[in-house]
Amino acid sequence: MSRYSVFSLVRNAFSYHQNWQRAWRSPDPKREYDVVIVGGGGHGLATAYYLATECGITNVAVIEKGWLGGGNTGRNTTIVRSNYLWDESAALYGHAMQLWQGLSQALNYNVMYSPRGLLHLAHSVHDMQEIQRRGNAIYLNGIDSEFLSPEQVREMVPFMSMEGRYPVLGALLQKRGGTARHDAVAWGYARAADAAGVDIIQNCEVTGFDIQDGTVTGVQTSRGRIGAKTVGVVTAGHSSVMAEMAGFRMPLESFPLQALVSEPVKPVVDCVIMSNGVHAYISQSDKGELVIGASSDAYNSYTQRGSYDIIEDTLQAICEMYPLFTRMRMLRQWGGIVDVTVDRSPIISKTPVRNLYFNCGWGTGGFKCTPGSGHVFAHSLANGDMHAIAAPFSMDRFNSGALVDEGAASAVAH
Ligand SMILES: Cc1cc2nc3c(=O)[nH]c(=O)nc-3n(C[C@H](O)[C@H](O)[C@H](O)COP(=O)(O)OP(=O)(O)OC[C@H]3O[C@@H](n4cnc5c(N)ncnc54)[C@H](O)[C@@H]3O)c2cc1C
Repeated sequence: MSRYSVFSLVRNAFSYHQNWQRAWRSPDPKREYDVVIVGGGGHGLATAYYLATECGITNVAVIEKGWLGGGNTGRNTTIVRSNYLWDESAALYGHAMQLWQGLSQALNYNVMYSPRGLLHLAHSVHDMQEIQRRGNAIYLNGIDSEFLSPEQVREMVPFMSMEGRYPVLGALLQKRGGTARHDAVAWGYARAADAAGVDIIQNCEVTGFDIQDGTVTGVQTSRGRIGAKTVGVVTAGHSSVMAEMAGFRMPLESFPLQALVSEPVKPVVDCVIMSNGVHAYISQSDKGELVIGASSDAYNSYTQRGSYDIIEDTLQAICEMYPLFTRMRMLRQWGGIVDVTVDRSPIISKTPVRNLYFNCGWGTGGFKCTPGSGHVFAHSLANGDMHAIAAPFSMDRFNSGALVDEGAASAVAH
């Protein structure tokens, strides 16, 4: 694999950029792999990358039914942060945050990680109590977070309406929070995993699991059977469907979550502004579009679309809070299917089937943890035992009651 550098850019300029190598191969599946990862989103690709580069397991396939990043990885609003309440979450999301910082260098691919600062606004006494409790917990866990007064918020975002229907009483700021380019994350992991020997197989749907005496031995796919010693399922949105194929139930519900972008304008928003109370959040992409996150639908569905009333509510709140944007036109809207647990924390877990592992339930907020999730999942698959950071996120917690309740920090009203 040629390395991306200024020299390769100049070299390829001489041939009018006609001779760039493909970023990853498109091999036919082998009969058997040591590890098969189902799902070619960021989490699945990251898992394969760390298996090959850190755990010495290179006989790995990533099986994707569509195209890489075509699921939630390419549909999210790209927000990265680690300001969660509980110690277990601090360890997981904090681990991801550390990996984000060196990710472009590690992958030799610019994932455009931009720690531009992230505000969580408080609009009510309840919101204030929530951000104060969470802010203190985050601080005690050594993760950066600061309270801002309304005056400090006004200084950061002078065009925000502070006294309207959604008054701003204060905010929680994570300076290291920000954004990363979502599809670059999938492509960067894919390219680096492929270079380390991983087979990435697109347009190949997993339709069933081969299970003998309670142990998984392979997967059935639209391109035939593929044998596997270990299988990791990372299929956000469809995880309960996959669990049903393997003969058990996953404690998940699937909802459409939607987002939209505006026409591009000159730089105006230089941080991420989230508002849990009204559920509308904005940032500005490098192209100049406002990237707007909306709420999830109130009912279960597998449509990658989302309902119209949600768009209406979101834009109404945006116009109320930022009168500056009232005459902007929206360019695109889309949805993704998120699988949500009752405690709004992910499931990274063994399952009732031996050697079959699931990494799912990231709900509306898994993009930010892509590197951390892939890293701890890879080590868990390689060792046959859950990584210490992943252990609290076992599916057994729904039996034992040891929930990791991140309802407030997950920032979306479900
Ligand atoms: C609108 C929206 C906004 C969001 N905003 C944010 C945000 O700002 N910050 C944040 O942290 N998170 C956000 N999220 C959540 C985040 O996108 C997800 O948690 C994360 O991307 C999940 O990554 P993944 O790799 O697990 O899943 P995906 O990227 O969805 O990958 C799963 C893959 O599995 C494949 N698959 C499914 N079934 C099969 C099968 N049978 N066989 C083979 N392949 C299969 C799918 O095609 C898909 O490509 C948002 C989500 C949405 C929808």
